[in-house]
Amino acid sequence: MERTQQIVGRARAAFNSGRSRPLEFRIQQLKALERMVQEKEKEILAALKADLNKSGPNAYSHELLGVLRELVLAVEKLPSWAAPHPVKKDLLTLRDEAYINYEPLGVVLVIGAWNYPFLLVMQPLIGAIAAGNAVVVKPSEISENTARLVAELLPQYLDKDLYTVVTGGVPEATELLAQRFDHILYTGNSAVGKIVMAAAAKHLTPVTLELGGKSPCYIDKDCDLAVACRRITWGKYMNCGQTCIAPDYILCDPSIQGKVVENIKATLKEFYGEDVKSSPDYERIVNQRHFKRVKSLLEGQKIAHGGETDEASCFIAPTILTDVSPESKVMEEEIFGPVLPIVTVRSVEEAIEFINLREKPLALYVFSNNKKLIRRVIAETSSGGMTANDVIMHSVVPGLPFGGVGHSGMGAYLGRYSFETFSHRRACLIKDLRWEAVNKVRYPPGSMEMMHL
Ligand code: NAD
Repeated sequence: MERTQQIVGRARAAFNSGRSRPLEFRIQQLKALERMVQEKEKEILAALKADLNKSGPNAYSHELLGVLRELVLAVEKLPSWAAPHPVKKDLLTLRDEAYINYEPLGVVLVIGAWNYPFLLVMQPLIGAIAAGNAVVVKPSEISENTARLVAELLPQYLDKDLYTVVTGGVPEATELLAQRFDHILYTGNSAVGKIVMAAAAKHLTPVTLELGGKSPCYIDKDCDLAVACRRITWGKYMNCGQTCIAPDYILCDPSIQGKVVENIKATLKEFYGEDVKSSPDYERIVNQRHFKRVKSLLEGQKIAHGGETDEASCFIAPTILTDVSPESKVMEEEIFGPVLPIVTVRSVEEAIEFINLREKPLALYVFSNNKKLIRRVIAETSSGGMTANDVIMHSVVPGLPFGGVGHSGMGAYLGRYSFETFSHRRACLIKDLRWEAVNKVRYPPGSMEMMHL
């Protein structure tokens, strides 16, 4: 505990020194991070391969690219994000300055998950640095190679006191959570999200919770099934199904279920060849515990495709389950693996009802040629984010916030939203000591009507 206290204390002292505040300093640190990603690309890709069997091109496009994009955006936009934002004046403030000043919160804790272990700590770190904070990063112990590398690399490129990495698992995370932070961004499952929020409440620390859930995917009959299924196959089986916004399950009319299976099977062959196991593009389940959990979801189900497993290498083949009962275990918890259940519904009304009976998901997908139907699904459901006629892609559109709602999380980040999340919007009013006559209206005796007290 003492060591943790010292680490956080050192970060706070560094923050209090004021050196993380000037924009030039923030930009210089962000550029150093960019250099780190470029110079250490090989090491980062090797760690991702060791943790999740991610191939070089997959790891680059799923993790490094997102980090580099975020860095370029922050460096370019920071001066405009951080500039004081004037607000509209009224009669009382006509001669004054009224503006929002973005100020750093202080010391931020970032707790990451293992499924995109580099991206999920780097993107929040970028936002927190851009906003001028000190940061303590706690990567997931499950992706231990990436965690070790992040701990080794960051001090080589960044200010060592302002930005610290703490490695370890639950005991270390628990010790950190006992400390006082000014903001916590946690990525992971909802059960731990509650622990994080309860710990934060003791210090009145605000939290951003990036959680998960079962993201539904509705396929309308009026739709190009070949295209829809290719896009769904990509998003479902990338990273072996271990993606927070992967389509968790499909809802479709019973009359197209068979065609959906056939199209996904054809795409799987196109993507991974005859022998998925030997495809360099197909990842593995992160560890034995998750392997057993995902495998158990197959029990008693009708397997239309896949189902092969190999415990020694944590391999689970891309799997499709048909005619799945809404009451079955696979429909209760987030799957987080390469298993795609199809639940049949007879209409879009039924699909909407099915979605609304469950917790608000992190993402929602709908495939249809009918724009009206798409807008109806958007209007009558809720989710953290959504994409129509594709999957995953709303998370890479610059300018869109990323985050959940309800049980899938609270708050959002990425790009400008990261900057906002890690900043305090301070209301500033600078008045003039002259023009006292104008103020008469608010002084007694007389009316207070103009005040919003
Ligand atoms: P995990 O096991 O790596 O845990 C996440 C972090 O929480 C780790 O750093 C871990 O050390 C810490 N932790 C675990 N138990 C703790 C405890 N008792 N107290 C304090 N800290 C603790 O990751 P996970 O939870 O298996 O992650 C998968 C989940 O995360 C899925 O539900 C997925 O959908 C979700 N997820 C969400 C996003 C998002 O951006 N919304 C991204 C990735 C994953």
